Amino acid sequence: MQIKRNVLLNPGPATTTDSVKLAQVVTDICPREKEFGDLMEYCATEITKFVGDPKEYSTVMFGGSGTATVEAILSSVVPENGRILIIDNGAYGKRMCQITKIYKLDTVIFESSSIVPIDLKALEEVIKQEKGLTHLAMIHHETTTGLLNDITAVGKMCSTYKISFIVDSMSGFAAIPVDMKTMNIDYLAASSNKNIQGMAGIGFAICNKKALSATESIPMRNLYLNLYAQYAYFEKTHQTRFTPPVQTFYALKQAIIETKEETVEKRYARYTKSWETLLSGITLMKLEYLIDKEHHSKIITSIIEPKNDKYDFEEMHDFFFERGFTIYPGKVNNYDTFRISNIGQIDYIDIQNFLKVLREYLVQIEYIKA
Ligand SMILES: *Cc1c(COP(=O)(O)O)cnc(C)c1O
Repeated sequence: MQIKRNVLLNPGPATTTDSVKLAQVVTDICPREKEFGDLMEYCATEITKFVGDPKEYSTVMFGGSGTATVEAILSSVVPENGRILIIDNGAYGKRMCQITKIYKLDTVIFESSSIVPIDLKALEEVIKQEKGLTHLAMIHHETTTGLLNDITAVGKMCSTYKISFIVDSMSGFAAIPVDMKTMNIDYLAASSNKNIQGMAGIGFAICNKKALSATESIPMRNLYLNLYAQYAYFEKTHQTRFTPPVQTFYALKQAIIETKEETVEKRYARYTKSWETLLSGITLMKLEYLIDKEHHSKIITSIIEPKNDKYDFEEMHDFFFERGFTIYPGKVNNYDTFRISNIGQIDYIDIQNFLKVLREYLVQIEYIKA
């Protein structure tokens, strides 16, 4: 079977291999069958192994997008008398603040720029001043701009001040290496459709078992999204409490196999080469990017829109879409940008082809000469 290949340059869902797409075509199966339980167990264990030892860490999976998992963690692990500090340096940090507000959790917000690194000294001052902090949550890679946050440094701080550390690594996981133990992370959120290169529909929380077990006594604020309940039921039965996205799990298994074959390190090297190709290409076309190289995730690039009367994002989007590329709008206040992500089953050759189309567009609007 021949499937048309689109190059997705949006930050997930990403371009997938045909083998991952086709893995979804399977014989109908009831998810309560042992065979399917074994498949989910395989997925959970292998996901854990990318970032930690399954003896100490466990992956809890939910049918839902990535945000469902972030919401599951935040709404499930902070005790009644707990207090959480959230670092907000972009749209995804803001979303975490929105979640804890809805659940009425005692929240301290540490705001930080979405284009330059977090001021760690200022953060430590706030941690010292604010009494009774039990948890700290932050984004690993702020997909809003492409800024890579220093989770290692913040993890150290959490260890010093005995604070449980929650990281949303949705757009970092399976590309940017993470070691939960040395980074002192108790909960890491990720999903099936970004760097792992699977289909959308499964969110996972990789949890420190000790920390998670201690949340058993917290009165439930939720049902579907309760982290401990989902964990305990799966441990006992190898089933999820509610209907899982069956076919998406088959695709996830294949995506995991392919990630293990490539290895996370080599995947990141492939992404990095695409990113370097992108940066040198746009620079030649007189375009600038927002985040300096040193603090860049190398996964998504915010490009400052060309200052030109004929430029229009929607028109540029359609120009690319007709040619098999999907590009993404920007999201940063005060900066007009569009974003190019280099994740998924694509490489620097695809980026070179993207750059050719970009040149064509920029010549057409007379931003550069042919
Ligand atoms: C993609 C992403 C999410 C989750 O988005 P969904 O649309 O719910 O899958 C959360 N946090 C970050 C940092 C992301 O990049």
